[in-house]
Amino acid sequence: MPIKRAEKTPMPVRDAQQRAHDFREVNEGYALSHAAFEAERCLRCQDPVCVEGCPVQIPIPDFIHAVAVGDMAGAARILRSANPLPAICGRVCPQESQCEAECSMTNRFDPVAIGHLERFVADWERTQPPSVESKITRSGKIAVIGAGPSGLVCAGELARRGYAVTIYEALHAAGGVLRYGIPEFRLPKDILDWEIGLLKAMGVEIVCNVIIGKTLTLDELFNRLGYAAVFIGTGAGLPQFLGIPGENLNGVMSANEFLTRINLMRGYEFPESDTPVRVGKRVAVIGAGNTAMDAVRTSLRMGAEEALIVYRRSEKEMSARVEEYHHAMEEGVVFHWLTNPLEVLGNAEGWAKGLKCQKMQLGEPDASGRARPIPIPGSEFEIPVDNVILAIGTTPNPLLTRTTSGLLTDKKGCLVADEKTGLTSKALVFAGGDAVTGAATVILAAGAGKRAAGAIHEALAAGS
Ligand code: FAD
Repeated sequence: MPIKRAEKTPMPVRDAQQRAHDFREVNEGYALSHAAFEAERCLRCQDPVCVEGCPVQIPIPDFIHAVAVGDMAGAARILRSANPLPAICGRVCPQESQCEAECSMTNRFDPVAIGHLERFVADWERTQPPSVESKITRSGKIAVIGAGPSGLVCAGELARRGYAVTIYEALHAAGGVLRYGIPEFRLPKDILDWEIGLLKAMGVEIVCNVIIGKTLTLDELFNRLGYAAVFIGTGAGLPQFLGIPGENLNGVMSANEFLTRINLMRGYEFPESDTPVRVGKRVAVIGAGNTAMDAVRTSLRMGAEEALIVYRRSEKEMSARVEEYHHAMEEGVVFHWLTNPLEVLGNAEGWAKGLKCQKMQLGEPDASGRARPIPIPGSEFEIPVDNVILAIGTTPNPLLTRTTSGLLTDKKGCLVADEKTGLTSKALVFAGGDAVTGAATVILAAGAGKRAAGAIHEALAAGS
């Protein structure tokens, strides 16, 4: 057997100084030679533990082997058989804590770059004529609420089984967080449009600008429109706030609002687009997850001269993908670890001008399992800022649950659903993704959508 190279084949990336000022994609993608080298590193283990680490169970060694022998069509087929959103997941999945964390190479070397190879295969597939077709062969139409990854995958899997599926989406465009949250420089919208286009070609209908719970109720989907089953994939789009003084000042906003104005409403093209976004010279983003990294890097691209992350724990506890963190550092983002915001300070006109903070130290783990931050008395200090963007978490929007009887939620407002099937407390109503788990990841949402599609199929087949 040839000796395996110890290091991952690096992803080609654009120059940090250049890319920090535009919205074009940062990662450039593997060339064929990179992909062939990297595919050769896979050990093709008898017991492929990497597959266990993947929430949608992609047959990883099989698709990588197909790349290694130059069978790109085969690789694309294998990948798509398990994951209907490979071009997206290859770009945004936290592989380091999922499939790549399990890779047997990690015993001594870097893991195989499974995510980079997934992206390579999906991008190759985009250059080929689409091979999907619409085949509605079954009676019993299904409604999906929400066009984020959980809803899109659930709809795609049901369409593949021959069902007529309609997705109802509250916003004017499909994609959920993939459209309004994750910026163009990480996930170009034409990639998202292409994946959604394939689902439409399979027969999935997407109806935008319909809020279930307001425009129509969930019960009306059954009683008036005659759907046989419903999947809820409404995500967790309600931002949390700190509750500190000064949070209502101008220039303070949630990362959801900031990113939605820019990504969905094209605020970066103002005044050609009609959504203004005022970004000052100094922007502080509170939090250290993917949302915080996206907000802070977006603020640089919107013209901020200083972009800061303020986080009350340390680098070790941050939840952002490692790649986003590295890219943010390369682009010049400054990190204030162990720093807790106490108050947003304002000027006479009611705009934010500073952030009063306190230094923290870490204590014993708290309920989240992470070290608890403890304030250091007398360590208060001020950071001058023009904008404060809050990226400290989100919860599910209660609109749907408040207008639907018999739909149980937990203490955090998340829908209660069976882990394996997604079945909720209401007959023939299934749910998955962030609406059930709280804010999580694209691939977990996709996995939940896929499992629920299987369960809906079984429930309808049993009843027919
Ligand atoms: P969503 O993507 O939230 O989609 C829900 C959809 O339902 C939305 O389109 C919403 O408009 C619609 N909706 C809501 N209520 C209704 C209603 N009543 N009627 C009709 N439609 C409704 N995860 C990763 O794996 N990697 C990353 O790099 C990453 N980066 C992220 C960056 C940001 C800025 C954010 C916010 C999240 C990020 N995540 C990332 C998390 C990931 O995007 C989410 O976990 C995932 O999108 C959840 O999918 P979902 O389908 O459950 O919900």
